[in-house]
This record gives sequence, C-alpha cells and structure tokens, in this order.
Amino acid sequence: MGRKFVVGGNWKMNGDKNQINEIVNNLKKGPLDPNVDVVIGVPAIYLSYVKSIVPENIGVAAQNCWKVTKGAFTGEISPAMIKDVGADWVILGHSERRTIFGEKDELVAAKVAHALEQGLKVIACIGETLEEREAGKTEEVVFRQTKALVPAIGSNWDKVVLAYEPVWAIGTGKTATPQQAQDVHAALRNWLSVNVSGDVANAVRIQYGGSVTGATAKELAARPDIDGFLVGGASLKPEFVDIVNATQ
Ligand code: PGA
Repeated sequence: MGRKFVVGGNWKMNGDKNQINEIVNNLKKGPLDPNVDVVIGVPAIYLSYVKSIVPENIGVAAQNCWKVTKGAFTGEISPAMIKDVGADWVILGHSERRTIFGEKDELVAAKVAHALEQGLKVIACIGETLEEREAGKTEEVVFRQTKALVPAIGSNWDKVVLAYEPVWAIGTGKTATPQQAQDVHAALRNWLSVNVSGDVANAVRIQYGGSVTGATAKELAARPDIDGFLVGGASLKPEFVDIVNATQ
C-alpha cells in the first residue's frame, strides 16, 4: 500500500484576511504530521495572499476553474492563472458545484483534463445524494462519476486525489460511519482495478469528506481504504490540525 495520507481543507466561500491570518497561524503552530500532505482550498481572490503567507510544505488549491486557458469567459479563472499565482492544486466537481451551479460529469471531466494538462494537481470530488443512497444507487452514482473522469485523467492518476463526499454528509453534521465510508472506498478501488488498472487502484488516494471533525477523524482514518479527508467547516477551525494528525 504505502499511500501517503492527504488532508484538504475546503474553505468554500468563507474567510477574510483576518480569519485567514488566524487559520494560517494555527497551521504554522501545528505541529502538523510531516507524513501527511496538507492542501488548503481557498477562495480564488485570496490565492495570492494565502500563497504569500503559508509555509511551502502546505499546498494551496483553488476551488474551481474553467476548462480553457484564457478568453471571453467573464468571471472565470483558468488553471494557468492559478499556477501563475503559485498555487498548484484545484478542487473540481465538488457537490456544491454540481448541485448549485449545475456542473455535469462531462463539464467536470473537461475541467479535470485541462487542469492536469496545465500542470495542476486535482482533487476530484464524487458522491451520492441522500435520495440516491436510499434508492440503493450509491455505487452506480460514484462509478458513473468516476467513469467520466477516466479519459480526462488518462495517464495522470498520480496527480489526482479522489474525494468521496456523500452529499448528505456535507455540512450536515451527519458523518458517514467509518464502515459506510470504507465500503464505498473499497468498492471504488475495486472498480478502478477492473476499469483502469490494478496499479492505479492501489496507488490512488481516496479522501472521505462530509462533516469530518477532530472527534470523528481518527476512527475514519483507521479504515484501510480511507487515505485522507476533504474537510469543510472544520478546516476553518483549530481542530483542522487534529484532523491532519488523525493517523498519529
Ligand atoms: P463539511 O464539508 O466538512 O463542512 O461537511 C466538506 C466538503 O464540502 O468538502
């Protein structure tokens, strides 16, 4: 195995300079487990600022981008711009992008393909709604979402982290149980071994996301197919450090 644990903080549309200073100071204080990759997903307008104050060993991610380099796309930002200000990750396909902004599998895939082409690393999010889970469609949905990503990722799986985020667990305080998360992660890995390759299935890191807290992280992290977290609400709080250190 030997997959390096990776924890992302997804600040969403939160934070101002004061709060960002507090969050970054808290990360600097840590101490953060040096065996964990840490990436913070910040609002685009603060990417440069965060990059200028955050230690080198913490990755900085945009939360979205467009699928071409430049042009008449008012309000959008490109992977080239994200790279230009020194950030090297982008979160794509988050359920809020999919549900609130209507992003479909095909658009998410086009963004993933372009971001990788431009040299960004990608946290690609997938996950079922409560309705889909209750209808027994969890695997069907996450396999469909992942399948759309396969041609977009091509041979770049080492630049991609998958984030399994059940929509019913995001921002609701309802964390999936460690077993529920493990089951989906294992099913995804199996799907990847059949549909991509055994090597990719073994190597790709799959984060769990959805109401992860300092209190729930350790038990989730102990499951064999959970390789990290994508954290929303708690990434704005001091307990983010505990989540990063969940495997200690
Ligand atoms: P949450 O968000 O931790 O606040 O549930 C997770 C996410 O949306 O990535």
